[in-house]
Amino acid sequence: MASKHVVILGAGPAGLTAAYELNRHGVPLTVLEKDPRFVGGLARTVERDGYRFDLGGHRFFTKALEVDDLWHEVLGDEFLRRPRMSRIYWNNRYLDYPLRGPDVIRKLGPVELARCMGSYLVAAARPKREESSLEDWVTNRFGRRLFELFFQSYNEKVWGVPASEIRAEWAAQRIKGLSFFSAARAAFFGNKGNKIKSLISEGAEVTSIRHSGGMIRSVAIQGASGRQVIEGTDFISTLPIRELIERCDPPLPTPVREAAAKLKYRDFLTVAVVVKRDSLFPDNWIYIHDPAVKVGRIQNFKNWSPDMVPDQRATCLGLEYFCFEGDGLWTSSDEELVDLGRRELATLGICRPEEVAWGATVRVQKAYPVYDDQYREHVAVVREYLERALPNLHLVGRNGMHHYNNQDHSMMTALLAARNIATGTTYDVWKVNSDAEYHEEARASDREIGGRHVPMRIDEAA
Ligand SMILES: Cc1cc2nc3c(=O)[nH]c(=O)nc-3n(C[C@H](O)[C@H](O)[C@H](O)COP(=O)(O)OP(=O)(O)OC[C@H]3O[C@@H](n4cnc5c(N)ncnc54)[C@H](O)[C@@H]3O)c2cc1C
Repeated sequence: MASKHVVILGAGPAGLTAAYELNRHGVPLTVLEKDPRFVGGLARTVERDGYRFDLGGHRFFTKALEVDDLWHEVLGDEFLRRPRMSRIYWNNRYLDYPLRGPDVIRKLGPVELARCMGSYLVAAARPKREESSLEDWVTNRFGRRLFELFFQSYNEKVWGVPASEIRAEWAAQRIKGLSFFSAARAAFFGNKGNKIKSLISEGAEVTSIRHSGGMIRSVAIQGASGRQVIEGTDFISTLPIRELIERCDPPLPTPVREAAAKLKYRDFLTVAVVVKRDSLFPDNWIYIHDPAVKVGRIQNFKNWSPDMVPDQRATCLGLEYFCFEGDGLWTSSDEELVDLGRRELATLGICRPEEVAWGATVRVQKAYPVYDDQYREHVAVVREYLERALPNLHLVGRNGMHHYNNQDHSMMTALLAARNIATGTTYDVWKVNSDAEYHEEARASDREIGGRHVPMRIDEAA
């Protein structure tokens, strides 16, 4: 093993997990991260004047026991289990989230409920044959009215395009297993067995990647101490695929570069504000469906942990805005954004403008890989080429695979890639968060018999 040296591009959850696993196997490694202060990637916590906030509040949840074990192993007694509470702000009122029957009936009222049921029956009787968009997917399962009430406005805020242009695959991945009846059953009779997926209750910048003779040989980095070249035997990348391919030197074949260049991303920004009040609302976060404001979600960091706030007389909120790099929100000045937050909090009746003492903003590039009509083919072109032409480059994580992975699946892909390098196993990381989930559930009993809770290897799956 002494001859190996693995270079890991990016220190988000996936990069850090790969490093941890390789270290466990005694494989020498280097982690390269462009952020000069923080590791953690999209899941990092930043700090301003003693106030700590996530870029978007991060709840850790996993069905992958191996990843769960890893968290406990790393954190030990510091693992903090938090109660979760969240609601939906809709039509000037708050609905419990996950939905609860009596609460929904009281707040929607009998007329609206009858409309929802009617439109569900219409959709059930005449479903759209081809489900290509989020709109089709949700309408077929919930009816048009529920789509308009609970899916359209929020999802259009998140993705910045009409729901008719968002791929159905995204819905299938994120809200799979949620049918009108299973949602209604959970709302009215509780969520026994927890089968409903979406209702589960918590630098050095790499500037070029050099290859020759069918292998990646080294990467060039730009950091505080200038330019450096790091050589390695294997490379694990969590960089957005578009950037990774752009930075390959010499340039990769045109079809591969064109495919990568067509991958799209949705960006994001957080406006964190400190409010001079000890308590504002009991939720960890609130989804804002109301189209009258631009904010999509509001985090209350003190409710995640009181340690996030140094002065218990104050509260720190994170207002989450979904945007595209370079659009009007993204290019607004920090002062304008804090002002917007202040006004929108007042519009929502959460606090008075003068109660906001100060605020800070963080802009996050490429927060969401976009699932448009062609992303699958583009990813396939890149993947197929890299697997064949540069087999010592391993793609893992969220943007690293252009897959809407949460922390656990990002970590799982990294764990498996690291293990493949360290021990010669042949786990197929592309099965994590697709077929893998099926395998994870199906193999839940493995734990009792001491088995590993991971997707099948390629040869096993065949
Ligand atoms: C708003 C929001 C809320 C979320 N909420 C949750 C949640 O509640 N629960 C959950 O489990 N997941 C959540 N996620 C998803 C979670 O953040 C990701 O799954 C996870 O961070 C992906 O990890 P990663 O290591 O693959 O990528 P990233 O976190 O993107 O890390 C990639 C790293 O690579 C670095 N990098 C990029 N380019 C270069 C370069 N050229 N050179 C060197 N370094 C580079 C970046 O700085 C970054 O640190 C959320 C994501 C967002 C955006």
